[in-house]
Amino acid sequence: MIKRYMTFQKNSGISPYIWTILCILPFYFIFQTASPIKIIVGVILTVLFFIFYRIALFAKGWPVYLWAFILIGISITSTSLYSYVYFAFFLAYFIGNIKERITFLTLYFIHLISTSASINFSIVQQDELFLKQLPFVIIIWISVILLPFNIHNRKEMGQLEEKLEDANKRISELVKLEERQRIARDLHDTLGQKLSLIGLKSDLARRLITKDPEQARNELKDVQQTARTALSEVRKMVSSMRGIRLKDELVRVKQILKAAEINFNCSQDISLKNVSLLTENILSMCLKEAVNNVVKHSGATSCTISIKQTWKEIVLTIHDDGVFKDDSDSETRGSGLLGMKERLEFINGSLEISTQEGTTLEIKVPNDVKPIDKEGA
Ligand code: ATP
Ligand code: MG
Repeated sequence: MIKRYMTFQKNSGISPYIWTILCILPFYFIFQTASPIKIIVGVILTVLFFIFYRIALFAKGWPVYLWAFILIGISITSTSLYSYVYFAFFLAYFIGNIKERITFLTLYFIHLISTSASINFSIVQQDELFLKQLPFVIIIWISVILLPFNIHNRKEMGQLEEKLEDANKRISELVKLEERQRIARDLHDTLGQKLSLIGLKSDLARRLITKDPEQARNELKDVQQTARTALSEVRKMVSSMRGIRLKDELVRVKQILKAAEINFNCSQDISLKNVSLLTENILSMCLKEAVNNVVKHSGATSCTISIKQTWKEIVLTIHDDGVFKDDSDSETRGSGLLGMKERLEFINGSLEISTQEGTTLEIKVPNDVKPIDKEGA
């Protein structure tokens, strides 16, 4: 319910006070008339309008037309009988919220024509109460023209943004999945095959041990050799997992940005000299996290990455032209930026975030670093 109320607020952008006034106002107009029958009819029509309006807001398919016609009918009646034109404003809001384009346009024009006709009718009739409020009537008429399109376009944009956010989330999920699959493939191709070979050979050796001890010894030698190879392959695999080179990470980052349809600009020279594997790994991890954030949060159209190495330090800059979303109040705060800072601190590096004209992350690490002794520090 609260969510629905919030959506209402977000979509309309119209203060609840205005809505409240518009809900009370018809009764003021109704009680201006002298005839008790007219007053009763007016109150019934107003109550019915609000009930049908509520039903219409949640209607789908052809009932939308039905409720819209009934509401337009009540609006015209109250304009001509009670000089109350402001139901047209409710209808403009309702029509603006119709998703289906044809229904939206049809009802938009019917509502515009009927409101214009009933306003004209009241002017021609020289209705005194109506003429007194002419400036407000003009405002309502302009709202009937502009408000539905405004709401409709805003809704469409909101939906597109939601879709984009979903797509970006999906991309980062796919990237993780692909990484997991790569690890599973590597494990299967190296460890899996070697272990089954060890199983087969040791089984053979067990059977040969009494019949042909010499052959059994050879088989066991093979088992030992295969186990050694498997161990060294696992070590290699683990160290390659730990040790992502910046060059490789850049290739991956490029693919991620391409998939997210974000332009990628990169400074030409990205080769680093005399850099320890640890520093390069940490820089790669930071780059990966920064680009994940660009894809997930920024809504940017382009991302620029530059790496500069001077005699003193290495500076990695990731800039995007999106908007930084401050989540400091959020309960579900992420840990990506924090993790980056902690890792960089470990190698005496630093992270600076600037959120003017997009987001810029400046990562600095000293050249030829040695990890500082945490306990000693
Ligand atoms: P995690 O990285 O743990 O999966 P996360 O990405 O939400 O979650 P952080 O990487 O720490 O967490 O980012 C913190 C917040 O900073 C994000 O939720 C987002 O609101 C904002 N943010 C970070 N980078 C950008 C960016 N490039 N553009 C816009 N907002 C960003
Ligand atoms: Mg993150």
